Amino acid sequence: MNFADLSQKELCEQVEAMLLPKFRGKQLFDAILNGQELDEISVFSQKLKQIFEKNYPKYKIFKKFEAKDGTKKYLIQFEDGAVVECVFMKYKYGNTICLSTQVGCRMGCKFCASTLQGLKRNLSAGEILGQLYLVNRDNGGSKKARVVTNIVLMGSGEPLDNFDNVCKFIELVSAQEGMNISRRNISLSTCGLVDKMKQFAEKQFDVSLTISLHATTDEERKKLMPIANKWSIAEILEACDFYFQKTGRRFYIEYTLVKGVNDGEEDALRLIKLLKGRTCHVNLIMLNPVKERNLKSTERQDAEKFCKMLSDGGISATIRRSLGQEIGGACGQLRNKFVSG
Ligand code: SAH
Repeated sequence: MNFADLSQKELCEQVEAMLLPKFRGKQLFDAILNGQELDEISVFSQKLKQIFEKNYPKYKIFKKFEAKDGTKKYLIQFEDGAVVECVFMKYKYGNTICLSTQVGCRMGCKFCASTLQGLKRNLSAGEILGQLYLVNRDNGGSKKARVVTNIVLMGSGEPLDNFDNVCKFIELVSAQEGMNISRRNISLSTCGLVDKMKQFAEKQFDVSLTISLHATTDEERKKLMPIANKWSIAEILEACDFYFQKTGRRFYIEYTLVKGVNDGEEDALRLIKLLKGRTCHVNLIMLNPVKERNLKSTERQDAEKFCKMLSDGGISATIRRSLGQEIGGACGQLRNKFVSG
């Protein structure tokens, strides 16, 4: 049992089971959310610290990189030595943190660095939360005075491949007595695990669901994303419709533009046809270079043309601003070199 995996109520129950007063549970809970280490909790005696030592979270910031645009990439290390990356970004509407949900990834998308080493393991809910707590603190925030307002589950890993822990994370991070982050400010991005998307819709979490589509025919999609062998684009869109029915929330399509692969006029036309009449928004992403991959990004002016075609075709679309490229913090550049050596 790790304390970071527990709600305030569960933590207080644990503390009472240790025959200690309930308020110690609240103190523990606040310290964890403030990103403090056990040693830093001044209200605890040495003896109390010894009692809590075993179950207190031991993740820490291992390294930090800062880009000129204000983006910061953090390497967070867990108790077993595993390292993941998370990224802090400043946007006009608030500060956003991009969190990892797995160490590595087993989805095998051709353009993504996170999957190069395969899946090492899932992160627990507390380990996903820990990234937020540490980065919030490092940027001057606390539980009471949060500096992070938005969360995107777009770091390494496929969130729906770690379904239970990710759902628990969403419950804990949005709890009123917890970090109290609005579910409307949380985006979950998936490569399209259709069965899990439906299960997720049933939860009616009210988070923004984002689908990494990246192609307009199943044939083309299979070349970029192995998961396309399992689920068709039609099945994915049907699951998106189901999500809309269940939550009333529009969904988002992510479409990474790869030069000469998925950025032609015929692709734009097919995308319009696929999305017509659906309540969604398309985020076009310029491919970020990953040195092991041989794919090139579409030129800026061609991306703009593609975007305009979608808009003219009645599909809401924008090109996503890329942040943190120089520090390897942009989409698909996250990798785990500290684990694999
Ligand atoms: N596994 C989840 C979330 C992580 S990736 C998913 O597949 O959605 C977040 C987004 O970045 C996805 O849309 C992913 O396809 C995209 N991405 C991955 N590698 C990229 C790269 N090199 N350049 C641009 N976008 C990339």
